[in-house]
Amino acid sequence: MREKTDAPKMDRNDPIPVTVVAGFLGAGKTTLLNHILHSDHGRRIAVLVNDFSAINIDAELISEVSESAINLTNGCICCTIRMDLIGEVLRLADLPEPPEHIVIESSGVADPAGIVRSFFEQEVRQSALLDAIITVVDSELVLELSDEEDRLAQAQILGGDLFVLNKIDLVDEVTLQKVRDWMTDLRPGVPIFETVKCQAPVESILGFGRTRTNRFNSDAKYEFIGLEPHPSFETWTYISETPMAFELLQQVLTHLPKSMVRAKGFIYSNERRDRRLLFQLVGRRATISDEGKWGEIEPQTRLVFIARKGSCNFPAIEKALDACQAKR
Ligand SMILES: [Zn+2]
Repeated sequence: MREKTDAPKMDRNDPIPVTVVAGFLGAGKTTLLNHILHSDHGRRIAVLVNDFSAINIDAELISEVSESAINLTNGCICCTIRMDLIGEVLRLADLPEPPEHIVIESSGVADPAGIVRSFFEQEVRQSALLDAIITVVDSELVLELSDEEDRLAQAQILGGDLFVLNKIDLVDEVTLQKVRDWMTDLRPGVPIFETVKCQAPVESILGFGRTRTNRFNSDAKYEFIGLEPHPSFETWTYISETPMAFELLQQVLTHLPKSMVRAKGFIYSNERRDRRLLFQLVGRRATISDEGKWGEIEPQTRLVFIARKGSCNFPAIEKALDACQAKR
């Protein structure tokens, strides 16, 4: 399989190329990562997944295709757990058989500039070299964001080397053109792949062999000006081992407060106890999909909610969710 790639052979001492997948909450980063891992890339890829809540749903969705996905939880790798990211990258580089490529899924609130900064630390430069920042953009949602979220989405565009403009099936041509114009105004000349479910060409995304000529190479000057803390979000998790009355739960999950920017997780429903249902809320769009049987996984409802700090009454949501538990 490995013979299939015509990328230049890597020297054992070359720094490992690193691809960062960035983009706002719910844009499709996990979907892109799954697409990359499912493709015939022919490389030994290590995956780092940063979900800033305490339970990492994304890593769980990824570990089904890559057993070695590494979780970075309880913080954001562009700021609060920057050192954890550096530590993991150095550890991977020191392995007897280090990965040939590292892909990092950043949290949806991360500013790529903060991640770039970590790769300019002297100790990291010897071991790993940023190849590119891929920013995934939700074409339906990105122009609907309120002030501070919008500023963060702009920072994610400004930090990108390549864009995956996703969910184009959910918008009309006029909206799509508005999003394209917004992106090219912010960051002209950057390639845009327009996709449904992040089906972008993996060779272009991973850009094997591009590392030596990219903007992060050793001669590049990179200035970290205007690096501001991003808006604070808070996460809250709900776990229940009692099966949930599906229709009641659906009512609650489709009537969450507007300030809830993102929610996701698994549902253990009373009506279909053997099926693992996946709930996704992005902006105002809620979906529930059937992910198959639970298999080895213990059936339980595990939901993660993300909202702007102080904007949501989580105890009220907890009460509403508790009321959905099926009577024994
Ligand atoms: Zn951060």
